[in-house]
Amino acid sequence: MPLTPTKIRTKEIMKMPEPSENRSSYAATVLDVPEVATTNSNLRLMKTRVRRVSPPQEASFLKLDNGDLADLIENPENPDQTLFAVCHDGDVRYADKVECNGQTFVPMPRNSALLSDVRLPRGVQPYGTLEILIRRMRGFIAKCVRLPGDYLLLLVYFMIYTQFDDLLPIAVCLLVLGLPGSGKTTLLELLRLLCRRAIMVSDMSLAATSEICTAFTPTFLMDENEWGCNRGNIALRQLLRAATTQHALARRKGSVTRIFGPRVLTALKPPDDPGLMRRWIQMPMTEVNDVELIKPDDPRLSQEVETLQSMLLQLRFDLYPKIKPAVIQGPEAKALRPGTRDILGSLAAPFTDFPEAGQFLAAFLSVFHDSQSREPLSTVQNAIVAALFRFIHETPNSQAALVGGIGWTANQALAEAKERVRLSPKGAGGLLSSLGFARRVRTNRGSAVLLDLNLRKEVHRLVEDYGNDYVAQWIGTTGIGNCELCAKQAGGAK
Ligand SMILES: [Zn+2]
Repeated sequence: MPLTPTKIRTKEIMKMPEPSENRSSYAATVLDVPEVATTNSNLRLMKTRVRRVSPPQEASFLKLDNGDLADLIENPENPDQTLFAVCHDGDVRYADKVECNGQTFVPMPRNSALLSDVRLPRGVQPYGTLEILIRRMRGFIAKCVRLPGDYLLLLVYFMIYTQFDDLLPIAVCLLVLGLPGSGKTTLLELLRLLCRRAIMVSDMSLAATSEICTAFTPTFLMDENEWGCNRGNIALRQLLRAATTQHALARRKGSVTRIFGPRVLTALKPPDDPGLMRRWIQMPMTEVNDVELIKPDDPRLSQEVETLQSMLLQLRFDLYPKIKPAVIQGPEAKALRPGTRDILGSLAAPFTDFPEAGQFLAAFLSVFHDSQSREPLSTVQNAIVAALFRFIHETPNSQAALVGGIGWTANQALAEAKERVRLSPKGAGGLLSSLGFARRVRTNRGSAVLLDLNLRKEVHRLVEDYGNDYVAQWIGTTGIGNCELCAKQAGGAK
């Protein structure tokens, strides 16, 4: 958490503490010997150098000038107290205060209203390797909920990612969907145990969010959300859309506050809000009747929770200096939408030494996120794609297609489908650009789009990914001839 430097107010400096005043809440003020202004003999221009010794400041996390990290833990001997776990060159000690540049920092107290419900680690413990830790967490989660393999692993990676969310520019959010009794609340309970500083909130208003975010960097958990159209819900959606980027700040009562952080929400159904759905990973849950499952708060699991939390803190200390958004190579990662690649960059950031995780996450997001959250193309966009598709199949050797001609063909398709909308030449140009075909060549008959291999591939991809009724109808009457790209797609689909 960034610490705001103590501001010195003139009134405080000039006011000397009365004997009866509570010294612990008052900044002791030291007035040094005044410097004589040499450029002006007027003594009234004498400067006064003021140094202030501040009272201890509360902190939830510190990165000290010497590279040491101090993170908040629960005192293992007294659950009502907090301590710092201080990591210096890989060695960890516990301390009830930390000094830095003449400033004393004390751990945020356990009894502060916001922190009282947060489950903190009670120390650090070695975890072996990241792979061993992942396996152990999978085993733990599987004791409490039934999730298909891909989602189970996603959940483990998400929990690990939350240990570093304060270092990453994009916050990852999960939306757990399922009917009542499908185990959504149990899943939140699990996340509360193993995500970093997870906090269950019933109110995710701007006021509540910014207060918690300013105090410490939490993982927000919120059960049973509804997506109505009342003012509160609309405000919540706006906040959720904004809160996924690190630089997102909200203005509240004239001041600027933080609202950033990973979130997990549960709901019966997804919101009808494409902007939100592009930023959220959906996680469906179905009811299972399995007598072997144990509640996350079962005393039989408490020792394992404590161990895993301590291991996750050790992992944070180990990886903290090198965490940055991951750049995943490979065709699956490259094919992701830019926004999804940002989510992947954050989610995969802790796994640079375990590339399997990055590859898994790229494939997962491609199959379960990008395809589900994709907005359909509009009618006119589909007509433009269909027109391009016709051009590259009917005249496979032509180098370029006039924008006016593409618009005319698109209008023909719209008319045949009894759509009332028609495109102007300018409208066709704008739509081509919106689909990523912005490059033009000028010809003596007007501007044209180059029908190069990139464009041909992209048009095939758009038809394949989004489906296109105009294209389907056209293929149905004329066939595709011997197009290599169509043949390749048909081969890949088998
Ligand atoms: Zn083709």
